[in-house]
Amino acid sequence: METILLLTHTENDGTLAKSAREALHVAASLHKSLADSKFVVGLIGENVQAAANSIAACPATKYFGVAGKDFSQSRYATDAAAAEAISKTSGATIVVAPATSRWNRVLAGVAQRLGGRVDTHVTGVSSIPTLGVGVNRWYYRQRMEALLNRKQRPWFMLIDPGSQPACQCGSGTVQVEHVAVQLSDACKRTTVIGVREPAADAQTIRPDAQLLFVTGAGWTKKQSDGQAHAPEAEKLIRGFLQLSRASLGSSKSLVDQSGEGQAVLSFLSHLNQVGQTGATPRHPKGLSTCCHGEEPHTVGWRFVAERRAINLDPNCGWARGKADVLYVADAFKVMAKVNELLAATSP
Ligand SMILES: Cc1cc2nc3c(=O)[nH]c(=O)nc-3n(C[C@H](O)[C@H](O)[C@H](O)COP(=O)(O)OP(=O)(O)OC[C@H]3O[C@@H](n4cnc5c(N)ncnc54)[C@H](O)[C@@H]3O)c2cc1C
Repeated sequence: METILLLTHTENDGTLAKSAREALHVAASLHKSLADSKFVVGLIGENVQAAANSIAACPATKYFGVAGKDFSQSRYATDAAAAEAISKTSGATIVVAPATSRWNRVLAGVAQRLGGRVDTHVTGVSSIPTLGVGVNRWYYRQRMEALLNRKQRPWFMLIDPGSQPACQCGSGTVQVEHVAVQLSDACKRTTVIGVREPAADAQTIRPDAQLLFVTGAGWTKKQSDGQAHAPEAEKLIRGFLQLSRASLGSSKSLVDQSGEGQAVLSFLSHLNQVGQTGATPRHPKGLSTCCHGEEPHTVGWRFVAERRAINLDPNCGWARGKADVLYVADAFKVMAKVNELLAATSP
């Protein structure tokens, strides 16, 4: 019999992130599909009661918690000790966890300590009669999808955020069984003194956004008047991001320009690059602007469900089956009008 453990951490305010609810959906669905299985929840954080209550209606039969000031921040030694303790106490054979940066750092080490195995970037978990429990993963820059299973237990599965629907189970009151963790002084050698992050407005990568807005090198190229208009491009793009709260992606050519001393958009970095050598984000919709739509770029759009592009060239790559809609138009003019319309309707 499999014991399925949803293992997650709380956010700073004691709530559960969407990625945790996505992992919960996976764990609960797997439990439902396995006739003979047990489903339990493990929570780690400064205070875990509110988070446990928030998912009280899920089919878990037991809630384990490791709580206290030492577990409020992401820190390898304390997180690993807590995850190990909950995994052992619960007798978990399958551990489903959200692939947050906090868990990505820690759970491979915990699997090693427990003599188990771990799979990262999991995009699906299922139970197949002839195979048993299997996980889906993409390989070779998201070109091939594999389904694999393992005999070793405990089996840790890190679920890629955005790949699953979030569990909508309601709240209630549950009893959390607190698991004691002995921390040596060495565990607390690392002290988290704060978090440095860009201001909310400067943060252009928003994985939860409904729209991925992609900028290409065309924004900094000479336009019909023979001049480049980088400052105007920057203003239009910034304006659109502020009004729409879209996530900003880019072609490689545009993010590479800073290294070549050309006109650049100051808020872009390599982290924004989408494609074969960049990211493969997941958003319901995507809008590409001034980007040619070549294969090494569009391969990064694999998980973007509805795709549109604006390009002056009717023969650009997007026209060849890569976009659902191609607007053959000047992106400077289109985005100026879009911003005007958005500004008129925004509060
Ligand atoms: C091994 C390898 C890996 C790569 N990995 C990646 C990757 O991960 N991601 C990636 O993006 N690329 C990658 N590339 C590069 C990729 O092949 C392309 O060179 C790159 O995507 C082109 O960027 P672009 O479309 O922005 O620029 P360009 O090809 O210069 O296209 C600019 C476009 O802007 C349009 N345009 C200009 N002005 C306007 C206007 N006013 N309105 C509307 N349209 C306008 C033009 O018509 C043109 O189509 C890789 C290449 C290789 C060889």
